[in-house]
Amino acid sequence: MFDWFRPINRYLVFPLYYWKNGDKRLARLNELEQSQYLPQGKLEQLQLSRLQKIVRYAYDNTIYYRRIMEKNKLHPDQIKTLKDIEKLPILTKQLIQENTDTMISSKYNRSELIKDSSGGSTGEPTVYYKNIERHNLRRADQIRHDRWTGWDIGKRKALIWGAQRDLKAVQNFRENLLATYLDRQWELDAFEMSDKEMEGFTRQLEKLQPSMILGYANALELYAKYLLEHQPNHGIKIEGIVSSAETLTEEKRATIEKAFNCKVLNRYGSREVGLIASECPSQNGLHINAENVLVEIVDNNGNAIDEGNGDILVTDYWNFGMPLIRYKLGDVGTVSDKKCDCGRTLPLLGGVAGRTGDFFVNQEGGKIHGEYFTHLFYDLPQVKQFQMIQETIELVTLKIVETTQQSDKSYLDNIVAKTKAMLGNEVDVHTEFVEQIHPTSTGKLLFTISKVNT
Ligand SMILES: [Zn+2]
Repeated sequence: MFDWFRPINRYLVFPLYYWKNGDKRLARLNELEQSQYLPQGKLEQLQLSRLQKIVRYAYDNTIYYRRIMEKNKLHPDQIKTLKDIEKLPILTKQLIQENTDTMISSKYNRSELIKDSSGGSTGEPTVYYKNIERHNLRRADQIRHDRWTGWDIGKRKALIWGAQRDLKAVQNFRENLLATYLDRQWELDAFEMSDKEMEGFTRQLEKLQPSMILGYANALELYAKYLLEHQPNHGIKIEGIVSSAETLTEEKRATIEKAFNCKVLNRYGSREVGLIASECPSQNGLHINAENVLVEIVDNNGNAIDEGNGDILVTDYWNFGMPLIRYKLGDVGTVSDKKCDCGRTLPLLGGVAGRTGDFFVNQEGGKIHGEYFTHLFYDLPQVKQFQMIQETIELVTLKIVETTQQSDKSYLDNIVAKTKAMLGNEVDVHTEFVEQIHPTSTGKLLFTISKVNT
């Protein structure tokens, strides 16, 4: 059936609503649609001017940045290239927790700022603030990158998401109306992903026929597996899928693409700075949202690396409420010097290997990616779901949900042996058979968790 509301939304409701509210996201979107194709030199100039602006602003208006720059004998005038930012020290979550008050700009009252927090699955949440103009401005980059799926303003979008504070918990009647008629966005709850719920997802999606789905990688994979097994002839016809918030492995991507018969574009972002990088349909890596954030990849000593994996640092060009400069998110990313054939000059991030909390640590201090353990469970029909938790260097808890209760547990021998092979023979693997594995407080379904600091 023709979606008669789509043009009305696209050309009337959406632009008028934001125009009336003095929100510049559409004008901003037009700029971003052009700047993504700028010659590389021009793009770098734009980045440098924005970097210089936020560094100078932070120096002039926050006690924290003035102090650390003076301590390092630095002045904003010394930022003459993008690389000069390496002269500033790295900002960690712990530093934010300890210096929140002095990081907030003297130009703002705290009550004028949006307060938010991140984290949860590992460690203490980090509280941070952002100015409202930045918040609205950054909506435009989401629209630009969502368009890469084939979606556009006016078309419907479905979310398989679990961060309840983003969705249900904070949604009142007005927000529901806005989500439905303004942003045309519907959410499916990733907290509840039983077979029965997923059958309901299919009915809803067949009725809605959204243009795109945005979801957690693991929730999308779980649903894709369900579809392939139980509803392979479903009638969901979407243009593209965006996978976010969790590591998208090539196996997961292949499963989701097969189940939905469309491309899955990987996206990387964080609550603190928003959208950081995202794949285009050419899938050559993730284009960095370079007009809005500066991304650095550094080694353990904070020096930029030319190849391989390193810690991701971001600088938000627009958060004048509480500048975040060289902020270490706790994620590991891969450097890329490729050029994408889509024509966009936005630089590429090779990939996001995962959260530092995704890495297990062996007795020698070596890091083993959680995916190693995930692979041990492939082709094990006895296991419906699992979760492996590294509690300490000596102790691993393995939670298993069996497909049907097994009297013979010998299928676990290989897993225990291969775990010990990586982590050390002294490691105790404690197995628990459970009915269900619960998502974290933000709805993420984690297969591997390491509580050991890396
Ligand atoms: Zn591209």
